[in-house]
Parts: sequence; structure tokens; C-alpha cells
Amino acid sequence: MSSALASTATFLDRIGRARAVMAERGVDVLLLSVGSDLPYLSGYEAMPLERLTMLVVPRDGEATLVIPRLEAPRVAEQPGVFSLRPWNETDDPVGIVAELAGTPAVAAVGDTMWARFLVDLLGHWPTSGTRYVRSVEVMNALRTRKDAAEIAALQAAGAAADRVAAQLHAGEIALVGRTEAQVSADISARLIAEGHDVVNFAIVAAGENAASPHHHAGDRVIRAGEIVLTDFGGTMAGYCSDITRCVFTGEPTAEVAEAYAVLHEAQAAGVRAGVVGAACQDVDRAARAVIADAGYGEYFIHRTGHGIGMEAHEDPYMVEGNDQPIEAGHAFSVEPGIYVAGKWGMRLEDIVVATDAGPLSMNHANHALVTIA
Ligand code: ZN
Ligand code: ZN
Ligand code: ZN
Repeated sequence: MSSALASTATFLDRIGRARAVMAERGVDVLLLSVGSDLPYLSGYEAMPLERLTMLVVPRDGEATLVIPRLEAPRVAEQPGVFSLRPWNETDDPVGIVAELAGTPAVAAVGDTMWARFLVDLLGHWPTSGTRYVRSVEVMNALRTRKDAAEIAALQAAGAAADRVAAQLHAGEIALVGRTEAQVSADISARLIAEGHDVVNFAIVAAGENAASPHHHAGDRVIRAGEIVLTDFGGTMAGYCSDITRCVFTGEPTAEVAEAYAVLHEAQAAGVRAGVVGAACQDVDRAARAVIADAGYGEYFIHRTGHGIGMEAHEDPYMVEGNDQPIEAGHAFSVEPGIYVAGKWGMRLEDIVVATDAGPLSMNHANHALVTIA
């Protein structure tokens, strides 16, 4: 159960806004199952299992949560938001959904709904000419604009991740002589100890491995005199953290220190560009310009950032070509990197929320390339 912080009033407001978008876009019914859209609108997270759970939201008329009878006791009822329609083991749940949905001209289906549910549903509407769109068309405008409670949740998750980064900087997480995988397990345990419910990832990449942005921590032993990239995050009360810090096991070489100074300035430039009214791609351009001007352009091989919220990666994306305007409440990472294959890599990442008063960072851990003895 993820949205512990939301109340029935919050869900009523959200479902009302979803219906307004449905009306605007001519969507007759919204069908949500496995994934984050369902808990965002209802507070209930579907078990990711073969038995069908689906929230049927007609544009007009009451929403219904179709749910396996054995899961029904887990539902926190939200009067006025949805009614429950439990189904028994011998019922046809897809038929129940089809009946509740009627014969929609346009149905918006959950982006992460399983194909098996949609394919079965298609069989119930073989000749109706229903057009399908992705739920993102309805939900994106809602979910990308974080409200005050969501921002508070992102802040709390960010602060918990910061505490683990501070432990890394203080030398409390032993590095030299341990494998990347051991350090990754250590960081994961600390994320939980600091309040996360689950760990989503804990990348630890030493030396030349740091040149692979999504390196999988392995049995490479960390040595003295090299860079160690750590990128970790989890979910806390339904919202995600995500932070990257690099440390050096000794005094950084001049080459690494020089590149790191550029990276640090690039990350700051990206954050400064994350203002309401700018385009998402402006964040990428600002960070990339600093790196390119210093001659490292070819070594920055990914976009600058991704949206974050109930999911670790969600809209909006800070990437060239995305001219979507940044709005108050947009939450996203700013994480430029420099990767020299076969030698070393580095990335610096904070989560930022755009506000009318300017970019607000969810992370405050030291930005320096700290030396760990
Ligand atoms: Zn990250
Ligand atoms: Zn990230
Ligand atoms: Zn800084």
C-alpha cells in the first residue's frame, strides 16, 4: 500500500481532475491495473499477480474497483471515490470489467497494465471500434505536478538517501578491499535503516567500471587510488529517492579532479536552468554546455535527467527534443556524467522540484569528490 499520506479528499480531488482531462480529450473510460496510476487515484496498489484487479473509471458515473475477493480485505475503502466489485474464483473478471465499461469509443488503458488483461478485454469488444490510448494521456498532467504532500514525501526520501551519502563521505562505509557487490549490499541495508521501504537500486562502480553508467555491482574489488561511483535510491512512503555521489579512495589524480570540477559546475548549471517556464530540454542544454565547453562533450553519453515520484523514472524527461515547459511541482533528477571508457567515470545527481520560487533541491549531501582513506 503506497499512498499512506493521501486522504479520501485527495483521491476525490484527483479523480475529479482525471475526469476533467478525460472530458477534454474525449476519453470515455479509464482502466487502471498493475502500476502506479491505480494507487495514485485510489490509494490501492494491485497485487502484481495473474488475478485481475482493475479500477474502471467512466467519464460520467461512479468508479468501480474490480478485485479478487481474497484481496478485498486489503482495500482501504474510499467512500465516494470508488465502490468495490469483488469477484469469485469461478467468475469472469474481464467480463465484469467489459460490462462496467460499456462500449467506449475511446478507452485509456494503464501504461503498465499487463498485456494479458488488455488482450482478454479486446476479445470482449471485437467489433465495437473502440480506440485505445495510454493512460499517460490522462494521468500525465496530474502525476507530473506534485502537490505539497508529495513534495514533502520526496523531501523525506531525499533526506534519508542524503544520510546514507553522509555515511559514505564520513568513511563509515568501508570501500578498499571490499567488492562492489558488498558495498552495494551495505548501502542497501543503510537505505532501509534510514526509513526506505524498498531499495530500487544501489549501483557501485569502481575505477574503469564507473565508465558504464548502469554498471551492475559485481565482484570487482575496490582498490586504493581510484574513483568509486555510487548511485542509489529506494521508495519511502510511496515516493522515490535517487542520488549519485562519487568518492576517491585516496588523493584524486589531476585528470580526475579537473574533470570533476567541470562536472560539478555542469550539475549546478542544470539545476539553475530548472525554472518554471523553461523547457525540459533547457536543463539538459545548460548542463551539457558546461561539459562540452570544457572539451568533455563526447563523454557525456546520456540525457541529463528524468522525472521522479511514485516511480523512480517517470515523466518529464530532461532531454534534448523535449520542449515541454517545466511547471511548478515537476520533480526531476539533474545528473550529468563524464565517462571515459576503460579509465574512469563520474556522475553527480540530485533530485530537484521546480517551484514558483525557483528550483528546490531534495538532496543536500556534499557535492565534493570526497577522499576516503
Ligand atoms: Zn541515480
Ligand atoms: Zn536518476
Ligand atoms: Zn555543488
